[in-house]
Amino acid sequence: MRVSKYILPTLKENPSDAVVLSHRLMMRAGLIRKESAGMYAYLPIGLRVLRKITGIVKEEMDRAGAHECLMPEMTNADYWKESGRWETMGPEMIRITDRNGLEYSLGPTHEESFTNLVRSVISSYRDLPLNLYQINTKFRDEIRPRFGVIRSKEFIMKDAYSFDIDQAGLDASYNAMSMAYRRIFDRCGIATIPVQADSGNMGGSASEEFMVASEIGEETLLLCDKCEYRANSEKAEYTRGEVKSESAVEELKEVLTPDVKTIEDLVKFFKCDEDKFLKSVIYVADGKPLMVVVPGSREVNEHKLKNFIGALELDLANDEVVEKVTGAPFGFAGPVGIKDARIVFDISVKNMVNAITGANKKDYHLSGVNPVRDFNIKEEADITSARAGDICPKCGSPMYEKKGIEVGHIFKLGYKYTKAMNLTVLDEKGASITPIMGCYGIGVNRTMAAAVEQNNDERGIIWPKSIAPFQVHLIGIAKTDEETAAVEPAEKLLDTIKEYL
Ligand SMILES: [Zn+2]
Repeated sequence: MRVSKYILPTLKENPSDAVVLSHRLMMRAGLIRKESAGMYAYLPIGLRVLRKITGIVKEEMDRAGAHECLMPEMTNADYWKESGRWETMGPEMIRITDRNGLEYSLGPTHEESFTNLVRSVISSYRDLPLNLYQINTKFRDEIRPRFGVIRSKEFIMKDAYSFDIDQAGLDASYNAMSMAYRRIFDRCGIATIPVQADSGNMGGSASEEFMVASEIGEETLLLCDKCEYRANSEKAEYTRGEVKSESAVEELKEVLTPDVKTIEDLVKFFKCDEDKFLKSVIYVADGKPLMVVVPGSREVNEHKLKNFIGALELDLANDEVVEKVTGAPFGFAGPVGIKDARIVFDISVKNMVNAITGANKKDYHLSGVNPVRDFNIKEEADITSARAGDICPKCGSPMYEKKGIEVGHIFKLGYKYTKAMNLTVLDEKGASITPIMGCYGIGVNRTMAAAVEQNNDERGIIWPKSIAPFQVHLIGIAKTDEETAAVEPAEKLLDTIKEYL
């Protein structure tokens, strides 16, 4: 390939809409161009990098025993209806109807398609374990596409799905993918931080995300260097601090607090620490009102809460529901005297002494609030998010936060799709059993952007050798006519090394 004949449309200036480094560098180096919001074209040099990454992904997936397939990008709505996700996927899934009125989605993920494929081709436990993957385009109707190819509407993903006869088999498939992912990112020259992630109702360490540390990351990671505890903020646990010794238990007292509604207002009004307050938040979970009580400085972790109560849908309640549950307008809710709503407490609440909370009465709060005497804790769970400085649940050291971009995710799915779509095989005794599934994704374009974010200097991208678009740049140094003969050896050399380029 000659540079003079190549299309390499570099830019001198940063494009105005490119706010992150990888986006700027990929545009300026002529790797990509924007088609429209959240959609990018890859120019020849960008495509070379993308293909090198997919080549590494493919080699490592094959090495781990997975088999490559290629599924249609338009996926039949019938299968989504079988799994129940036609209703639950929400507006991010792009849905289309053909001229005959048949419905499809532009696949945002392919659990249904692969489950359907597998049920049509296997029938015996002897066919398992099976791990199928594809490297294909995915679609998501992002509400706000941004950061170049990092959050786009259309992207290339490697997605794999494992099928095993039992949990031990799934553990083995999952571990093989965990190792393969480590090799893939190593070979692509990017440092990832594998973190425990929220795994819905599967529990345990059944989900791991591969994160690239980055200021622009949309995920927060909680890390402990002492024991290597690593988790994303949806999942991260923390040990609650010791209870501070308090003076005697105070009497419950109603305090007039006109227009004092938020924790900020309360801190000013009562002149005390945020964690003196019991923050009560009203939700609607699967159609039913729910009060959640956490210390004042803490945020409710909706992932943890959803997992604990087993809800599919969780939304903040509107003013009308708040008034119905508490008998007061927004801003004065508290657990004292609530009779008709389910209340879930964070596990730290039971240790709070002489707290302050809403009185369920307009313009009033209660001080001297104490658990057991003033309200009963029937349900408690870890439902708040960890933050920097919190105590590591494994070793007791303080944790710190980092922002990260997710480039890969491995997940033990369980029986959700195989059961819903009735995928069964016969076991050795001839009885029908349902295989258990895992799924494993890598964002290929994101991996490329992450490599750029991590490897650059003031002069531009410094490609890791394994994914560099070209390995050799051959320069003929003749500059004058008399020296033209010197070009010939360069031409010869080019011929010799062509097959390695
Ligand atoms: Zn630790």
